[in-house]
Amino acid sequence: MYHRVAELDLDPYRLAVTPDRFARQVAHLARLRCVVPLGEVLRPSRAARIAITFDDGYLDNATVAAPLLADAGLPATWFITSGRLGGQRFWWDRLAHALLGPHPLPPAVDVRVGDASLWLDLRDDAARDVALRFLHRRLRPLPPDRLEAAISALLSDLATPEAPPDELSMRHEHVRALAADPLFEVGAHTLTHLQLSGQEPALQRREIFDSVGDLSTLLDREVTSFAFPFGSDSAVGPLAPQLAREAGCRLACSTRHDRVTANDDPFLLPRIAVGDWEPAELERVLAEVLQ
Ligand SMILES: [Zn+2]
Repeated sequence: MYHRVAELDLDPYRLAVTPDRFARQVAHLARLRCVVPLGEVLRPSRAARIAITFDDGYLDNATVAAPLLADAGLPATWFITSGRLGGQRFWWDRLAHALLGPHPLPPAVDVRVGDASLWLDLRDDAARDVALRFLHRRLRPLPPDRLEAAISALLSDLATPEAPPDELSMRHEHVRALAADPLFEVGAHTLTHLQLSGQEPALQRREIFDSVGDLSTLLDREVTSFAFPFGSDSAVGPLAPQLAREAGCRLACSTRHDRVTANDDPFLLPRIAVGDWEPAELERVLAEVLQ
């Protein structure tokens, strides 16, 4: 599981692998000769196999990661937040930039998040980092409209500039270009990247069905793979896997750290988050998980 391939000044969530390291990881994975399309992992086999996935739909996936994978002949699945296409920024990047970006901030600020009034200590880097993680935890369970309103209010309270353009999402043509490559599959990742557990069932259904449906329409083909945003068991909840199945998907991915086995629910497949590692470290983590 990857998210971004980029050289970032700010990566507090550790979502990025630098392009140089990613190129070396790709060369290593190509040498292993066991990278398969994601759907293949559902077929029983005695051989170890690896599937590559990217979550969210960052622009760098299309412009940096996809060409490297295509050159190496490696298949991959791109899970797209379909309602955030068009060069938008994700709320967690806007939040990180506001709190950790290179601009002055007041030493403390009062903000409202959901129903709560909060006082945030912003006096130094450590305090700002604590504030970021605290707000991220508070914001994540909100439904999309309240979350966006809370982020906008927060950014206006802090009076900070907007996040830089290197944090943009793909546009529609990028997704179409990915899907046109026979190596690549496009999967869905909800409309707005909400945490599904705890949301109204009708909202969960709309976010799952409409992201699958909108991408199917955009690409004029079936979309049969899904990944749950923030995909831990507690963030997915009991209803979402069933809805992904009803929406016509054949599989869905979580973020539980493990290999896939024949005993796994195909609608809660575990994955390994790949870090900004040299191939030796990737090899070590894979060996640990596959043994
Ligand atoms: Zn995601």
